[in-house]
Amino acid sequence: MAKTILPPGLSAADFSDALEAFRKIVGKDHVHTGDVLSSYVDPYSIENDPDAHSVPAAIAPGSAEQVQAIMQVANQYKVPLWPISCGKNHGYGGAAPRMAGTVVLDLNRMNRVLEVNEESGYALVEPGVSYFDLYRHLQEKGSKLWLDVPDPGWGSVLGNALERGIGYTPYGDHFMMQCGMEVVLPNGEVMRTGMGALPGNNTWQLFKYGFGPYVDGMFTQSNYGVVTKMGIWLMPEPPGYRPYMVSFQREEDLEQVVDILRPLKVNSVIQNAATIRSLLLVAGINSTKSQYYSGKGPIPDSAAKKIMADHDIGMWNFYGALYGPPPIMDTLWEIIRGAFSQVPGAKFYFPEDRKNANDVLKHRALTMKGIPRLTEYSFVNWVGGGGHIGFSPVSPIKGNEAMKQYTMVRDRMHQYGFDYMSVFAIGWRELHHVIELIFDRRDPETKKAAYECFTMLVNEAAAAGYGEYRTHIAFMDQIAKTYNWNNGAQLKFQELLKDALDPNGILAPGKQGIWPKRFRGK
Ligand code: ADP
Repeated sequence: MAKTILPPGLSAADFSDALEAFRKIVGKDHVHTGDVLSSYVDPYSIENDPDAHSVPAAIAPGSAEQVQAIMQVANQYKVPLWPISCGKNHGYGGAAPRMAGTVVLDLNRMNRVLEVNEESGYALVEPGVSYFDLYRHLQEKGSKLWLDVPDPGWGSVLGNALERGIGYTPYGDHFMMQCGMEVVLPNGEVMRTGMGALPGNNTWQLFKYGFGPYVDGMFTQSNYGVVTKMGIWLMPEPPGYRPYMVSFQREEDLEQVVDILRPLKVNSVIQNAATIRSLLLVAGINSTKSQYYSGKGPIPDSAAKKIMADHDIGMWNFYGALYGPPPIMDTLWEIIRGAFSQVPGAKFYFPEDRKNANDVLKHRALTMKGIPRLTEYSFVNWVGGGGHIGFSPVSPIKGNEAMKQYTMVRDRMHQYGFDYMSVFAIGWRELHHVIELIFDRRDPETKKAAYECFTMLVNEAAAAGYGEYRTHIAFMDQIAKTYNWNNGAQLKFQELLKDALDPNGILAPGKQGIWPKRFRGK
């Protein structure tokens, strides 16, 4: 258990007064201290210091008005706050804050689905609405709208879009599908973005940009405000749906597969946010490493061959889906099948071709139609003590670049004794290469190796021109510093905004490497 660390610069007496003031706002049952705080610990911490992200208290407001009042008190006492929505964020720090001594602002209680518009295809949600909640809500209403979900469905619809998370239907880029926000600023003022700024408007969730500079992006991966409402576009159920899988047998096929993929994606022949999944990421959903290899270090090639045969999967496995009227799906499938058939040994499957009831294509068939689940998350148990962290460099959709990233990361992970497990998620013009570094969180030595390996990967990727799209709280500073074109001009601008919007430095200090003046460089 982490020890209690007070907000930096605050005396115990002042902190106690601040907590009392917070209790007056939200009620005493919604200000947490003591043992309950264990739920705000990073469940997969990669750091051996248990106090690195220690939380002295958590406050759970029930409304935007309460969030505003909390900001006033936080400014008065200079209490740093770390907002979370559902607070899952697994692999990126969970509900834990970047800086030890930061109070968690837990928005889970604000969990209303405020509107579902069937005609125009959107929902307006509060932060505490999880994918499971919104799915249930749509089912109960008999809605014909689909969600787009990330692999684990327990996270927040709003929180995931703010972190620029991804899913797997054609609406897989979550921030692209976001429309209109309500934000409580660090000074306690509440603001609506885009068309929401116009009193009496009826287009807040329909037109993203409104008038003047577009600001919604400033509240993603940032510490400039607490988002209390968000619009999200939902996809109308298509007249037909056909999920499929293509397996490729050789490591080196990745290059050809990605080059085939690019024109298919850029021309929307591949309609969804499809993925290429590595052998072990797929195998890790239905099996564990110890079933195949009990030695130290990465699994040998002979075990990899056995896994391929046992699971009837390839070194690389492409999961996609067709959506639309059957003649359109038939035509698209002909093109896709024809293109991937150029890769020697490519095998094509629909869910009914897969014998195992637990087969990954059967699971993905549900995920790629937006049904939230947790099953595909079980790869974290690949080794005992299932810790994991996501290393996610971005690449062009080009075979030689994907191959370069793959070999660079694989070799480094093998050197540190880890297996390579990854998803290449195909965006509109790029690949998110999401590598899962799986480690035994009970073993300090393995954690140390994972930490060192991750640090090395960030630096090597940056030296090759690759940056991460998102990261764990432990690596935010390191990665922010890699985005340093023209002497760090972008970070300087972000700090300028931080100082103007949050002069007392109360909101999420250190989030994404952006520190308020009072903590900068300390
Ligand atoms: P999820 O439960 O979907 O994984 P979280 O609630 O853990 O997402 O949010 C992920 C991160 O996004 C948080 O650690 C925080 O930095 C940021 N965040 C979440 N909700 C908000 C919000 N309402 N306003 C501002 N930032 C937020």
